[in-house]
Amino acid sequence: MQDTTELFLNIIERVKGFDSVNTRKWFEDLVVLQFDGGMLEVGCPDQDKAQFLRDNCLANFTKAAQGATGHLVSVRFGVTGQKLSYAEPKLSQWSLKLHPDYTFENFVVGPCNRLAHASCVAVSHSPGDTYNPLFLYGSVGLGKTHLQHAICHGLRYKKPDAKIRFLSCEEFVNRFINSIEHGKLSEFQNKFRTVDLLVIDDIQFLREREQSQEEFFHMFNALYNNRKQIVLTADCAPGELPSLEDRLISRFKWGLVARLDAPSYETRIAIVQKKAHLRGLDISEEIATYIAGKVHANIRELEGALTIIYATAKTSGEEISLQMAKHALGEQEVLTQKNITITEIINAVTDYYDVRLSDLQSKKRSQSIALPRQICMFLARQMTRHSLEEIGGHLGGRDHTTVMHACGKIKDMSIDDQHMRKQLEELTSSIRTV
Ligand code: ADP
Ligand code: MG
Repeated sequence: MQDTTELFLNIIERVKGFDSVNTRKWFEDLVVLQFDGGMLEVGCPDQDKAQFLRDNCLANFTKAAQGATGHLVSVRFGVTGQKLSYAEPKLSQWSLKLHPDYTFENFVVGPCNRLAHASCVAVSHSPGDTYNPLFLYGSVGLGKTHLQHAICHGLRYKKPDAKIRFLSCEEFVNRFINSIEHGKLSEFQNKFRTVDLLVIDDIQFLREREQSQEEFFHMFNALYNNRKQIVLTADCAPGELPSLEDRLISRFKWGLVARLDAPSYETRIAIVQKKAHLRGLDISEEIATYIAGKVHANIRELEGALTIIYATAKTSGEEISLQMAKHALGEQEVLTQKNITITEIINAVTDYYDVRLSDLQSKKRSQSIALPRQICMFLARQMTRHSLEEIGGHLGGRDHTTVMHACGKIKDMSIDDQHMRKQLEELTSSIRTV
């Protein structure tokens, strides 16, 4: 019979082959804590990694162990150096669950996120001190959640007994509603108001939740007055948060508000390399450059591109080469979407409605001009990554609230008005095929 080390290497190789998304370089650091034939206990470097494996890889480890040994094996994950009890550690409802990938170390800093990153590092070093609250905003996939995890990792490392609560806004609202339903409001309040660090993701979901806003307002004050740290994220700036009470919005601006922008080409290259390294992949600079040039939108899509390349390499048995990467990505329609400019949008709209650019940029408010202008703003918001201010700038120097209002109006119309929907569809497809 092969020795345990060899067998375990075989298992890891199989796991990597099954699932390219959840393979990490640190799998090399896993060890066998115990193997008695029917039960394999795997030791991980820390609790977050053990939890990652339980959440994402248990089925594949079990399948791999079965494949490598030829019989049924059940797999458990524990932490190296800690005694593994047979009952897997039960995570209490409130325990902090952090993604092992989302650390400062794994975060690439560039001009698009330098301020956000620096403020997060500062907060994790001295919570409640400098930037309170810290408010991060930016569109989807730009690293807000990653940075929140990194703050928690950082603080927990520095002060293992710091009380940290990290949850999504939806979770916050659900727990609040639950606590009312079960007559446990004061327990809920205690749990939150006694923390050192409160982190809430996607706070925009508080809109139209009046009671939750009220509760959050009091919680905010209690924490703030006790110099406890609050970190929030949203998909837009505090002032743009729709239907949120003014007194909350003004508090969000008390500390530091930091925006995350889409990464530049150079930053995208560095991110691709970092992500590849995390997964234990060797990709040349040539390939990283190619991916970064091809995928413009958010960072999640960059990771998606890597996954496709890796999976293709695994299934075909090919080495990862530039040619192979091109072939693998060539079939991904989403990746080949071209970068659309505001000018292209404006040209399409002026053609479609037979208006002049100078009219769109003028102060004219007649419906025949105002509507196409608003449609331009809406489409520019949907199809480009320009800020509200930049879009306003292209359309006669209008300010961001005007653009925001236009976007909201056209969006509502596109839901209620079939005729508008059809116009938008026709415009969108003509812009995409220019
Ligand atoms: P958001 O919360 O802003 O929607 P996430 O934090 O979920 O975005 O990030 C999406 C993915 O992109 C995650 O896998 C994250 O690790 C990655 N990511 C975002 N920004 C960076 C960065 N600067 N460096 C490395 N990875 C990043
Ligand atoms: Mg997020």
